[in-house]
Amino acid sequence: MARTVRKAGVKEVPLSEIKDDLSRYLREAETQEIVITRHGKPAGVGCVQLTDDNRCAIFGRPERPKVCGGLRPEASMCGPDRDHALAWITRLERATSASPV
Ligand code: SF4
Repeated sequence: MARTVRKAGVKEVPLSEIKDDLSRYLREAETQEIVITRHGKPAGVGCVQLTDDNRCAIFGRPERPKVCGGLRPEASMCGPDRDHALAWITRLERATSASPV
């Protein structure tokens, strides 16, 4: 269900809802900011804990989510560059998602 949160006047809409009625949300986006969310978080937006140089601001601290600490990077995951790593993590996310991405 769409809801308006965070910045005044910005509507958050789950991706699944956008898929069901894209033309409606395209019309709404002409007059109102809309943030598309996946699993309750803005889609396509990096973690709020990422610093400008792509480091974790809470690395090693207790508030860092357990799932982050549980991910063990391997050379095949990181690959030669950022694009490779992002493609790898996107495949992992799709493969483990409870709902279709
Ligand atoms: S390790 Fe986790 S908390 Fe830190 S930046 Fe990455 S996703 Fe965010």
